[in-house]
Order: sequence, then structure tokens, then C-alpha cells
Amino acid sequence: MTPLKILTIVGARPQFIKAAAISRAIREIDGLSEVMIHTGQHFDSNMSDIFFEELDIRQPQHHLAINGGGHGDMTGRMLIAIEPILVAERPDWVVVYGDTNSTLAGSLAASKLHIPVAHVEAGLRSYNRRMPEEINRVVTDHLSTLHFCPTATAVANLAVEGVTQGVHHVGDVMYDATLFAIDKAEKASTALSDLKLRPKEYAVATVHRAENTDDPRQLRAVVQFLQERAESHPVVLPLHPRTRQAASRMGVSLDRLRVIEPVGYLDMVKLLHHAVGVYTDSGGVQKEAYFHRVPCITLRDETEWTETVTHGWNRLWKGPERGTPREIEEYGKGRAAFDIVHLLASNRAST
Ligand code: UDP
Repeated sequence: MTPLKILTIVGARPQFIKAAAISRAIREIDGLSEVMIHTGQHFDSNMSDIFFEELDIRQPQHHLAINGGGHGDMTGRMLIAIEPILVAERPDWVVVYGDTNSTLAGSLAASKLHIPVAHVEAGLRSYNRRMPEEINRVVTDHLSTLHFCPTATAVANLAVEGVTQGVHHVGDVMYDATLFAIDKAEKASTALSDLKLRPKEYAVATVHRAENTDDPRQLRAVVQFLQERAESHPVVLPLHPRTRQAASRMGVSLDRLRVIEPVGYLDMVKLLHHAVGVYTDSGGVQKEAYFHRVPCITLRDETEWTETVTHGWNRLWKGPERGTPREIEEYGKGRAAFDIVHLLASNRAST
């Protein structure tokens, strides 16, 4: 039998981290091959290359170098570029991740060519259609054949929309990624000493969502919140390029925060692991705070990762205090990537 060909589409930082976990599983299971398209949505060395180096991901066979422009422009260019690659590669599965324009373009291109799509991180909902990510995930879920859900809530969200076929609660591949990296990060990362930080005496913040960066009043409010926190402990802010540009364009001062360039995954794992608190609008970082058992405040008005709140590890910045922390079982035991790859292999005949 010819090897099962999995075509992975990535483009943004969190997708490199998730795809790395699945790539490793693909390489460990016989009879599978992988081809990767990098759309180029994130392209700086510290937003892209470093993840390929640190996480042992092979270089993508196809690099589209598509970034910038409006949503329609970017997604349209990706769609145009992805289609002929899919026609030439003829994969058994197209695997897309999360909720970016690369996810949407990949799932749209594949489904129009009748190539089955598998969505990793399916079923997440903020129920806020003003978020571009929400539109990307809803459309992708409805175009996908296999839905790999990180949580029971995600499974229930899909059921409400009538999506019940091919739905699997596999746990969270980002937990796999954390387990893969933690020992390496402890040994290899010099982030704490470089930044002259002591364990449990600093917090980590990240801000990049359009809802926080596109409106000057909102960005000012978020920065002010972080600056108030910085009165108690240093707040380290690895600054996303979009936020850096927005702050500079809007004249929002970031003084009193320890602003640094975006860091690689191992440095981020090290920083999170030893932090006293996490303040973030990132989906991934909210969960990672829990993986490292660090309390989190989410700089948004809603979260897709509701179990982090209900289990006492996270709260919304304008929401009630955290409850008593309890373990979250549904993210799994760090085997989500293997389960996903086995499901891709075993569903081959039915596609
Ligand atoms: N991350 C990183 N370096 C940074 C900031 C974040 O490695 O400077 C990692 C973080 O640990 C998490 C992922 O990037 O694994 C989250 O990506 P992002 O916040 O960009 O996207 P989201 O999770 O909100 O989709």
C-alpha cells in the first residue's frame, strides 16, 4: 500500500508548535508521509524560523511567502497559491490548525478539490463574530471531515451546530508540546538569567489579538492594566510585531513594562514555568499557564478555553476572582498528537 500522505498547512506561530507535535508522531508511525505548506503569514526569524529549529520540524516543501494586506487579500492569495499545490501533491488528508487565515484558505482550497480536511483544535468558540479567528474556525469546522477537539466543550459546541460525524475528543496537542519542551527548556534556556529575573518574582504577558491592538482606547486600557501589575512585580512582555506597530502608531507608551522581542518556544516555556502570574490575550498561553500551574488573567471579555476559568486557574480581566484550582483532565495526557495521527491513518478507507 502506498504511504498515507498527510499535507500539513501552517503559517502562524501557534501552528508551528502544534504541527511540530503531530509531525513527530507522523515520523514515528510506519506507513505515513508528510508534506508541509508554510503560507508565510508569520515570517520573521523570531516568529517562524526559530520554531522550526527548536522543535525539530523539517523545512516545508512549499513556502508561499504570503503575508500582510487585509483579510480578503491575504486569504485570497493563499487560496490561489494552495490550490495548484494540492492538485500536484494529491494528499490523502489536508491537516489545518486552529483559526488563522491560513487555516481558512487551506480548508477551503482542499474541500473544493474534494480532499478531506482534518481540523486540529476543532470546535472552539468565543461566540464573538467580530473576531476574525471565530469566522475562520466556524467555516473550517463546517468544511472538515475529521474534527480533533481539545475539550469536551468543543465537542458540545460542534453538536449545537449539527456537526457530530468525525468528531473526536483527543485532548490538547499544546500539552504534548509543553511536555516535549519542558526538560529541554530548563536545560537550554538562559532567559531568566539573561533578563535578570528570579523564579516566582515576575509575570509574563502577551498581547496580540486584533480586538486589543486595533483600537487605541483598548490598547491603552490593556497597557495600563499591565503597568498597574508592574507595581507589584516585573512584567515581561515579549512583544508581538503587530502590537509593537500598533503602540508606536497610536503613541501608546509601554514604559514600566519589561518589553522584549518575541522569544523562541524554549525561552517561552522557561519564562512561563517560573512565572508568578500570566496576563494574556493568547489562546495558547492561557492553557500553558495552567500546564505550568501558574494563575492567569485573560485580557479579553470572553475565552474559548472556559475550563481554565471553571477550574480556578484563569479569570477574565473584568470578570470575577478565580475559584479554588482543580486539575483539568480533558486536555489529556500528552498523547493527543499520536491519537490524531492514528485516527488519520485509520480513517483513510472511509474518505
Ligand atoms: N509564544 C512563544 N514566544 C513568544 C510568545 C508566545 O513561543 O514570544 C508561544 C506561546 O508559548 C504559545 C504560542 O506561542 O505556545 C501562542 O501563540 P500566539 O499567542 O501567537 O497565538 P494563539 O495561541 O493566541 O493562537
